[in-house]
Amino acid sequence: MFNSYLEEIKTYEAGKPIELVVREFGIEAKDVVKLASNENPYGCSPRVIEAIQKGASRASLYPDDSMYELKEALSDRFGVGSENIIIGAGSDQVLEFISHVKLNQNAKILRSAVTFAMYDIYAKQFGAKIVITPSFKHKADEFIEKIESENPDIIYICTPNNPTGDATKREDIFAIIEAAPKESLVVVDCAYMEYVESDAYRVTPKDFLAYENVIYLGTFSKAFGLGGMRVGYGIANRSIIDVLYKVRPPFNITTLSLLAAIEASKDIDFVKRSVAGNREEMLRYEAFANEHALEYIPSQTNFITYFLGEKNNSSQIAANLMKQGVIIRDLASYGLNAVRITIGTAEQNSRLFEVLANELV
Ligand SMILES: *Cc1c(COP(=O)(O)O)cnc(C)c1O
Repeated sequence: MFNSYLEEIKTYEAGKPIELVVREFGIEAKDVVKLASNENPYGCSPRVIEAIQKGASRASLYPDDSMYELKEALSDRFGVGSENIIIGAGSDQVLEFISHVKLNQNAKILRSAVTFAMYDIYAKQFGAKIVITPSFKHKADEFIEKIESENPDIIYICTPNNPTGDATKREDIFAIIEAAPKESLVVVDCAYMEYVESDAYRVTPKDFLAYENVIYLGTFSKAFGLGGMRVGYGIANRSIIDVLYKVRPPFNITTLSLLAAIEASKDIDFVKRSVAGNREEMLRYEAFANEHALEYIPSQTNFITYFLGEKNNSSQIAANLMKQGVIIRDLASYGLNAVRITIGTAEQNSRLFEVLANELV
């Protein structure tokens, strides 16, 4: 009755919500520590909260569908034109637009061995084939080999990568882009780029504007702290953006989301403070790993992935932590005996270390 290729899809398993822990384990919401979805533990800019409160009565009005002001803010921030920008309900929606314009049952996507789960889900929605590089690091030579042998329609570079936390060097990103045929679209998913410190790894949308087959994706959900508002963007050569607009529904973000993202764009200092807090707390996560002989990949994001070794089971540990009100992300579904933990506030992290230390054998 339905498209047969949809049978391949395992629905996306989102990080467990606080409400679930409250319901199932009777823990009060204020005592739940949620470190599972890479949200900003410092919340969002106070200016955003004020703006949403002041703007609440506009809930009855459709948003400005041109999203003029938000595009102006992004074009100032990145030095690109408004015509180079498309806004989505999260960058997830931009991924969906991209899939609409590139994929069908004869198409292929290429991705690294362990990366953002939505790439596969969108590919499967269109019956496309998924081609995977051998390594979970993004290795340029592996990508280039698969590009040559498989001729993929979309090539995903997730940098820094979720759920491993490592980033891809600029030179490797460009090596992959240069190897991509004109007909394949290279998607550079930069959901965590605000956390990257090293120039060798940092890319900006402007780097890719000259290419007619590369799109940069960014989001307000992570460093800007607006996960609940659902605002992301794609920035690319106009030839790409114009096509994506054909599949965008009108009013695809809400009036209050639009207002929130505009206001958040004016408070880059909030992002800087969040990144600085993250960096400081990351050192504690590295120290904890060393102390407990856990392997980890140095992270350029607001999360860290711990590999648990033979004695500990990631699903068991995540389940046991949840019973104590601490939510982390089990990576068993990625084929890893590992957990991904969002770097929280100092207090949240202390609680995590306490309960995790008790569980580790
Ligand atoms: C969080 C995330 C996104 C998208 O988040 P939205 O909330 O939809 O903007 C995209 N890619 C990666 C790798 C992410 O981790």
